[in-house]
Amino acid sequence: MFRNILGQEKVKRILSVQIKKNKIAHAYIFIGQSSVERQLVAVELAKILNCTINGYSKTYIGACCSCISCKKIIKNIHPDLHFIDFTKQAELVAGNLENQKKIRIETIKYMQKEVAIRIHEGKWKVFIISSAEKMNALVANSLLKTLEEPPKNTVIVLSAKYKESIPQTLISRSQTLFFQPLRQSEILSWIMSNYTLDELKAREIAKLSDGSIENAKKLIGGDKKDLHSLWIKLTSQKLYISDVLEFSKNISKSEALEFIDAMTVKIGNDLKTCPTRNIQWLELLNFSKMLFLKNINTRIVLDNLFLGVLDLSRSI
Ligand SMILES: [Zn+2]
Repeated sequence: MFRNILGQEKVKRILSVQIKKNKIAHAYIFIGQSSVERQLVAVELAKILNCTINGYSKTYIGACCSCISCKKIIKNIHPDLHFIDFTKQAELVAGNLENQKKIRIETIKYMQKEVAIRIHEGKWKVFIISSAEKMNALVANSLLKTLEEPPKNTVIVLSAKYKESIPQTLISRSQTLFFQPLRQSEILSWIMSNYTLDELKAREIAKLSDGSIENAKKLIGGDKKDLHSLWIKLTSQKLYISDVLEFSKNISKSEALEFIDAMTVKIGNDLKTCPTRNIQWLELLNFSKMLFLKNINTRIVLDNLFLGVLDLSRSI
């Protein structure tokens, strides 16, 4: 049960029982200090509900992480898993990612359209609204009906740091699950299985992380999700060259390769929307991958890729 998630035994137990009994709530509110952990559990829930090999039954719950569905979710390209966040909002509504302070009604309307259409290819549609506390009363009210009566096999997860920041009207229509800080030993084992740090350094970071994977990630430096935000900033010309060069310092080769693969699939899927621009981006991504395969230094490859994207975006 949720074997890919560290700690959070109570949250995992509640979700597992509900999945086994096929009594999954329409809407959950995940409350806890670390947005990364809340997101990890929500994504794992999407994986379990859609996994085509293990999935869930009365006796077993867990995502295989190797079927097509799991792989698409890991690469962030599954059409039935929707992240409703500021990155998405920047795509939907013209505006600077940094200047976004609130979830806008247009973003919720987009989500509602997606909720209403049929499931693309999975068994369940999952919507994750991060920063759910960033909704004003009007926007929160526009969500009520969707939370109450989503179509069959649809789950909406609202994610926030504090319960008090969520309007009572949303709380009364959802099931709230509280996340606990992780133990130092749990953070340590997460670091050791995800990074190649020496143990002394990992222990030091685990101690300073205050029970949060998010803090640990910040202390280690580099974050895969940031790569996707970076791409959006690059392509919408909201970044200076100096920022780009600073950014590529903290990215490991495996993170860079994973990002290039994910972007190649994503842009390949978007080819119809803007063929010329997307073909140029794909060429850049393929060239970067080839440089990696020739063992060229990660930072050089990434600098070259990011500057190339920035250049192309300016020339369009
Ligand atoms: Zn699977």
